[in-house]
Amino acid sequence: MQILKFIFDFIAPKKCYSCKKHWKFLCEDCLKIFYDFEEICYVCKNFSKNFEVHESCKKENTVFYDKILVLKHYKNKTIQKLIKDWKFYWKREILEEFWYYLYEKFIRNEKIRKLDDFLVISIPSYFLRKWKRWYNSSEVLAKSFAKFSKINYKKNILKKVKQTKQQSKLTREQRLVNLKDSFKINKKYLNQIKDKKIIIVDDVISTWTTINEVSKILKESWASKIIWLIIASD
Ligand SMILES: [Zn+2]
Ligand SMILES: [Zn+2]
Repeated sequence: MQILKFIFDFIAPKKCYSCKKHWKFLCEDCLKIFYDFEEICYVCKNFSKNFEVHESCKKENTVFYDKILVLKHYKNKTIQKLIKDWKFYWKREILEEFWYYLYEKFIRNEKIRKLDDFLVISIPSYFLRKWKRWYNSSEVLAKSFAKFSKINYKKNILKKVKQTKQQSKLTREQRLVNLKDSFKINKKYLNQIKDKKIIIVDDVISTWTTINEVSKILKESWASKIIWLIIASD
Protein backbone atom coordinates (compact mmCIF):
# COMPACT_ATOMS: atom_id res chain seq x y z
CA MET A 1 0.00 0.00 0.00
CA GLN A 2 2.79 2.41 0.90
CA ILE A 3 4.37 1.79 -2.48
CA LEU A 4 1.10 2.44 -4.31
CA LYS A 5 0.65 5.66 -2.40
CA PHE A 6 4.15 6.70 -3.22
CA ILE A 7 3.64 6.10 -6.96
CA PHE A 8 0.32 7.92 -6.87
CA ASP A 9 1.85 10.93 -5.16
CA PHE A 10 4.53 10.95 -7.74
CA ILE A 11 2.28 11.05 -10.79
CA ALA A 12 -0.63 13.04 -9.32
CA PRO A 13 -0.51 16.75 -10.11
CA LYS A 14 -0.09 19.23 -7.29
CA LYS A 15 -3.35 20.84 -6.26
CA CYS A 16 -4.59 22.98 -3.42
CA TYR A 17 -5.74 20.92 -0.41
CA SER A 18 -8.59 23.34 0.12
CA CYS A 19 -10.07 24.48 -3.23
CA LYS A 20 -8.56 21.67 -5.33
CA LYS A 21 -7.45 24.19 -7.92
CA HIS A 22 -4.09 25.68 -8.88
CA TRP A 23 -0.68 24.13 -8.78
CA LYS A 24 0.07 24.67 -5.15
CA PHE A 25 -0.56 22.64 -2.01
CA LEU A 26 -2.20 25.65 -0.44
CA CYS A 27 -2.97 28.47 -2.83
CA GLU A 28 -2.71 32.11 -1.84
CA ASP A 29 -6.49 32.62 -2.10
CA CYS A 30 -7.17 29.87 0.43
CA LEU A 31 -4.33 31.01 2.63
CA LYS A 32 -6.00 34.40 2.86
CA ILE A 33 -9.36 32.90 3.82
CA PHE A 34 -7.89 30.91 6.70
CA TYR A 35 -7.73 33.05 9.79
CA ASP A 36 -4.30 34.29 10.72
CA PHE A 37 -3.00 33.50 14.14
CA GLU A 38 -3.84 36.46 16.40
CA GLU A 39 -1.06 38.89 17.17
CA ILE A 40 -0.35 38.01 20.76
CA CYS A 41 2.45 38.06 23.26
CA TYR A 42 3.19 34.40 23.82
CA VAL A 43 3.68 34.85 27.56
CA CYS A 44 0.41 36.47 28.62
CA LYS A 45 -1.56 35.59 25.45
CA ASN A 46 -2.91 39.12 25.22
CA PHE A 47 -2.76 41.30 22.15
CA SER A 48 0.66 42.55 21.20
CA LYS A 49 1.59 44.38 18.02
CA ASN A 50 3.86 42.32 15.76
CA PHE A 51 3.89 39.41 18.20
CA GLU A 52 6.47 41.10 20.42
CA VAL A 53 6.65 39.83 23.99
CA HIS A 54 5.64 42.73 26.28
CA GLU A 55 8.53 44.24 28.20
CA SER A 56 6.52 43.76 31.38
CA CYS A 57 6.20 40.05 30.59
CA LYS A 58 9.98 39.69 30.35
CA LYS A 59 10.62 41.44 33.64
CA GLU A 60 10.85 38.34 35.81
CA ASN A 61 13.96 37.33 33.92
CA THR A 62 12.51 33.94 33.21
CA VAL A 63 11.45 34.68 29.64
CA PHE A 64 14.24 34.82 27.08
CA TYR A 65 12.54 35.06 23.69
CA ASP A 66 11.40 38.37 22.19
CA LYS A 67 8.92 37.35 19.56
CA ILE A 68 7.00 34.24 18.52
CA LEU A 69 5.32 34.83 15.20
CA VAL A 70 2.81 32.15 14.20
CA LEU A 71 1.31 31.93 10.72
CA LYS A 72 -1.86 29.87 11.17
CA HIS A 73 -4.01 28.09 13.69
CA TYR A 74 -3.52 24.39 14.11
CA LYS A 75 -7.28 24.02 14.56
CA ASN A 76 -7.81 24.61 10.84
CA LYS A 77 -8.48 21.15 9.35
CA THR A 78 -6.65 21.80 6.09
CA ILE A 79 -3.59 23.02 7.94
CA GLN A 80 -3.73 19.87 10.08
CA LYS A 81 -3.85 17.69 7.00
CA LEU A 82 -0.97 19.50 5.35
CA ILE A 83 1.15 19.17 8.48
CA LYS A 84 0.34 15.50 8.81
CA ASP A 85 1.39 14.91 5.23
CA TRP A 86 4.71 16.66 5.54
CA LYS A 87 5.43 15.09 8.88
CA PHE A 88 4.41 11.50 8.33
CA TYR A 89 4.24 11.02 4.58
CA TRP A 90 7.49 12.78 3.84
CA LYS A 91 5.91 15.31 1.52
CA ARG A 92 8.77 17.66 1.83
CA GLU A 93 7.55 19.80 -1.11
CA ILE A 94 4.61 21.02 0.97
CA LEU A 95 6.97 22.31 3.59
CA GLU A 96 9.07 23.92 0.93
CA GLU A 97 6.04 25.87 -0.17
CA PHE A 98 5.27 27.19 3.27
CA TRP A 99 8.50 28.97 4.13
CA TYR A 100 7.52 31.72 1.71
CA TYR A 101 4.26 32.43 3.52
CA LEU A 102 6.22 32.65 6.74
CA TYR A 103 8.71 34.98 5.12
CA GLU A 104 5.97 37.30 3.84
CA LYS A 105 4.45 37.59 7.27
CA PHE A 106 7.81 38.17 8.90
CA ILE A 107 8.70 40.97 6.47
CA ARG A 108 5.40 42.71 7.13
CA ASN A 109 6.20 42.74 10.84
CA GLU A 110 9.87 43.50 11.05
CA LYS A 111 11.94 46.56 10.23
CA ILE A 112 15.15 45.39 8.63
CA ARG A 113 17.87 47.96 8.39
CA LYS A 114 20.80 45.67 7.76
CA LEU A 115 20.48 42.04 6.74
CA ASP A 116 23.70 41.45 8.60
CA ASP A 117 21.98 42.17 11.92
CA PHE A 118 20.12 38.87 11.52
CA LEU A 119 21.07 35.21 11.51
CA VAL A 120 18.80 32.27 10.66
CA ILE A 121 19.30 29.01 12.54
CA SER A 122 17.43 25.70 12.84
CA ILE A 123 16.65 23.28 15.64
CA PRO A 124 18.65 20.08 15.31
CA SER A 125 16.96 16.72 15.49
CA TYR A 126 18.45 13.43 16.53
CA PHE A 127 19.91 11.26 13.89
CA LEU A 128 17.39 8.50 14.53
CA ARG A 129 14.35 10.71 14.43
CA LYS A 130 15.66 12.47 11.40
CA TRP A 131 16.19 9.15 9.71
CA LYS A 132 12.64 8.09 10.45
CA ARG A 133 11.31 11.27 8.93
CA TRP A 134 13.99 11.60 6.24
CA TYR A 135 14.42 15.27 6.85
CA ASN A 136 14.39 17.91 9.55
CA SER A 137 11.50 20.37 9.04
CA SER A 138 13.26 23.19 10.82
CA GLU A 139 16.28 22.83 8.58
CA VAL A 140 14.26 22.65 5.35
CA LEU A 141 12.34 25.81 6.27
CA ALA A 142 15.36 27.72 7.53
CA LYS A 143 17.44 26.99 4.45
CA SER A 144 14.80 28.20 1.98
CA PHE A 145 13.93 31.16 4.16
CA ALA A 146 17.55 32.25 4.35
CA LYS A 147 18.25 31.75 0.67
CA PHE A 148 15.35 33.96 -0.36
CA SER A 149 15.67 36.63 2.31
CA LYS A 150 19.47 36.80 1.83
CA ILE A 151 19.90 36.53 5.58
CA ASN A 152 22.77 34.27 6.61
CA TYR A 153 21.90 30.74 7.70
CA LYS A 154 24.14 28.73 9.95
CA LYS A 155 23.21 25.12 10.37
CA ASN A 156 25.11 23.85 13.38
CA ILE A 157 24.78 26.68 15.87
CA LEU A 158 22.81 24.45 18.23
CA LYS A 159 23.58 20.89 19.12
CA LYS A 160 21.69 18.38 21.18
CA VAL A 161 23.66 17.09 24.08
CA LYS A 162 21.78 14.10 25.31
CA GLN A 163 19.14 11.76 24.05
CA THR A 164 15.86 13.17 25.31
CA LYS A 165 13.48 10.40 26.25
CA GLN A 166 10.21 10.20 24.37
CA GLN A 167 8.37 13.22 25.83
CA SER A 168 4.89 11.76 25.65
CA LYS A 169 5.74 8.96 28.08
CA LEU A 170 6.80 11.30 30.86
CA THR A 171 4.95 13.29 33.50
CA ARG A 172 5.07 17.06 33.35
CA GLU A 173 7.82 17.30 35.96
CA GLN A 174 9.92 14.66 34.28
CA ARG A 175 9.46 16.46 31.00
CA LEU A 176 10.89 19.67 32.35
CA VAL A 177 13.92 17.90 33.78
CA ASN A 178 14.34 15.90 30.60
CA LEU A 179 14.44 19.00 28.44
CA LYS A 180 16.69 21.03 30.63
CA ASP A 181 20.19 21.36 29.21
CA SER A 182 19.30 19.35 26.15
CA PHE A 183 20.79 21.95 23.81
CA LYS A 184 24.18 23.55 23.70
CA ILE A 185 25.77 26.20 21.54
CA ASN A 186 28.46 25.00 19.24
CA LYS A 187 31.44 26.86 20.70
CA LYS A 188 33.13 27.46 17.37
CA TYR A 189 30.28 29.68 16.26
CA LEU A 190 30.02 31.84 19.36
CA ASN A 191 31.36 34.93 17.58
CA GLN A 192 28.64 34.62 14.91
CA ILE A 193 25.84 34.94 17.45
CA LYS A 194 27.07 37.99 19.30
CA ASP A 195 24.79 41.04 18.90
CA LYS A 196 22.72 39.24 16.25
CA LYS A 197 18.96 39.00 16.01
CA ILE A 198 18.49 35.26 15.79
CA ILE A 199 15.64 33.87 13.71
CA ILE A 200 14.61 30.30 14.49
CA VAL A 201 12.24 28.69 12.00
CA ASP A 202 10.13 25.62 12.69
CA ASP A 203 6.91 23.99 11.48
CA VAL A 204 4.92 23.51 14.68
CA ILE A 205 5.54 25.07 18.03
CA SER A 206 7.79 23.18 20.43
CA THR A 207 7.06 23.01 24.13
CA TRP A 208 7.41 26.26 25.99
CA THR A 209 10.38 24.79 27.86
CA THR A 210 12.27 24.06 24.64
CA ILE A 211 11.58 27.52 23.27
CA ASN A 212 12.70 29.21 26.41
CA GLU A 213 15.69 26.95 26.95
CA VAL A 214 17.01 27.52 23.44
CA SER A 215 16.36 31.25 23.70
CA LYS A 216 18.17 31.35 27.01
CA ILE A 217 21.40 29.77 25.81
CA LEU A 218 21.39 32.08 22.77
CA LYS A 219 20.94 35.14 24.97
CA GLU A 220 23.71 33.91 27.24
CA SER A 221 25.88 33.90 24.13
CA TRP A 222 25.06 37.60 23.64
CA ALA A 223 22.42 37.33 20.93
CA SER A 224 20.49 40.60 20.98
CA LYS A 225 17.04 39.33 20.05
CA ILE A 226 15.37 35.94 19.65
CA ILE A 227 12.63 35.63 17.06
CA TRP A 228 10.71 32.38 16.50
CA LEU A 229 8.85 31.89 13.22
CA ILE A 230 6.34 29.05 13.34
CA ILE A 231 3.87 27.76 10.76
CA ALA A 232 1.18 26.50 13.13
CA SER A 233 0.24 26.50 16.78
CA ASP A 234 -2.94 25.96 18.79
ZN1 LIG B 1 -6.90 26.96 -2.82
ZN1 LIG C 1 2.58 39.83 27.53
